[in-house]
Amino acid sequence: MSTVTVLGAGLTGLTTALLLARDGHDVTVLERDPAPPPADPLAWQRRGVAQFRLLHIMLPRWRAVMAAELPDVLDALVAAGGMRTNLLHLRPPAATGGRREGDERFDVVTGRRPVVEAAVAAIAERAGGIRILRGVAVDALLADASGAVPHVTGVRAGGRELASDVVVDALGRRSPVAGWVGALGGRPPARERADLGFVYYARHFRAASGVTPTGLDAALTHHDSVSVLTLPADNGVHGVAITASARDRELRGLRDPACWDAAIRLFDATAPWLDSEPVTGVDVMAGIEDRHQEYVVDGTPVVTGLVAVGDAWACTNPSLGRGASMGAVHAQLLRDVLAAHGTDDADTLVRAFADATATTLTPYLDSTLVFDRHRLAEIEAEIAGMPYRTDDRGWAVSTALAAGAAVDPELARVHTMIGGMLATPGEVFSDAAVTGRVLEHAGPPRRVGGPTREELVATVAGTRV
Ligand SMILES: Cc1cc2nc3c(=O)[nH]c(=O)nc-3n(C[C@H](O)[C@H](O)[C@H](O)COP(=O)(O)OP(=O)(O)OC[C@H]3O[C@@H](n4cnc5c(N)ncnc54)[C@H](O)[C@@H]3O)c2cc1C
Repeated sequence: MSTVTVLGAGLTGLTTALLLARDGHDVTVLERDPAPPPADPLAWQRRGVAQFRLLHIMLPRWRAVMAAELPDVLDALVAAGGMRTNLLHLRPPAATGGRREGDERFDVVTGRRPVVEAAVAAIAERAGGIRILRGVAVDALLADASGAVPHVTGVRAGGRELASDVVVDALGRRSPVAGWVGALGGRPPARERADLGFVYYARHFRAASGVTPTGLDAALTHHDSVSVLTLPADNGVHGVAITASARDRELRGLRDPACWDAAIRLFDATAPWLDSEPVTGVDVMAGIEDRHQEYVVDGTPVVTGLVAVGDAWACTNPSLGRGASMGAVHAQLLRDVLAAHGTDDADTLVRAFADATATTLTPYLDSTLVFDRHRLAEIEAEIAGMPYRTDDRGWAVSTALAAGAAVDPELARVHTMIGGMLATPGEVFSDAAVTGRVLEHAGPPRRVGGPTREELVATVAGTRV
């Protein structure tokens, strides 16, 4: 068994640490934020995770990984007030045709991000084989750079050096590690980086009845120049967010609660979600980058002794809610690759992990990027008052699926397979019968129950302080 240093005690870092420790590895986790989870997770100060207060849903794929690997995390989340519910059956019964055999694959356990992360952290804190050192900032890699490919042997953190067989970068979307690798003198990692240009305006509410509303076509609905996200959370609390283009100056007033409230009430299906007590102001996040890096370039590692997982490997616009699921699957892949290859052959380890990532996760990353780029272009076209046109047949199929899912229970399930990260669009649409059924709904995007762009802008302008 090996010594492993995991950088970052976020959702992915802790999940990775748990899976590796349970496989017998000796794991140390280094986390810059000093505070362990307090008794009230909502009081937790997590400066290292900018999106800590924003809406999060843990998809069916995340629940499935946890149920298979770390059921105690799900138990801890439920004990902390997390809700067991079903992503498909958040839709109205008319759209789902009621419960059917197999629908349990869409089960989820929901919770606000601090509540979910505190549940994972509580299990990790008491697990054997893991040392979590908080208040420790990693600032450099230790490496043997004498060979053709630099080999990472550990890290430097707060003036001390920590050696290990493998270093796992789980430092999240702003991880500096690829830059440190570039400075080791070998070939640079492959890196892509772009600001996707979305902004989130989010609030949480507590339903007076204690019963979380349901009944939208899906948790994420698209309306002209904005999308609306409605998510159950924990302890009777739910969240509602509007996502828009960060360049959309006319909607910037949405950061004001009165303005946000007036705007969201224009969406018929969303309004019932507001008949509740707000428990937050409007949390805003922009500057959300799409970042992706690879340590195997043109088939050859540029570094060994180091792998990146979760957001440190790739992160995108989060409106599809895939980040935690991607991180959990990545943790499983690393555990399996380490079990198969160990750490003695450093080159094989890095290659095998890159192969596993490319096979299992890259298709989800690619489909998320395609969605993001089309949706942002569609929003920009709506703002300019033009219909969005593209030659990409994939976008036409995806738009048709969203329309079909609102009226055809079979397609609601297909849509939730993709939305729940249980299948990629490529896997689903390789079935010609499914594609044929979806294309019966082809046409302009279905926009129901929302304001026109003019009404939305006028409402924001009229209530802006
Ligand atoms: C607005 C928004 C909404 C989102 N909604 C969803 C959603 O609904 N569902 C979903 O699954 N995902 C969602 N995501 C994505 C999700 O938040 C991320 O995928 C997830 O946080 C990734 O976890 P991670 O552990 O890889 O990284 P992080 O959570 O970013 O953790 C990185 C850790 O590294 C620590 N760190 C940083 N630098 C150092 C250093 N030098 N030394 C030591 N420690 C350091 C940080 O303090 C932090 O604890 C959303 C993201 C955003 C931006």
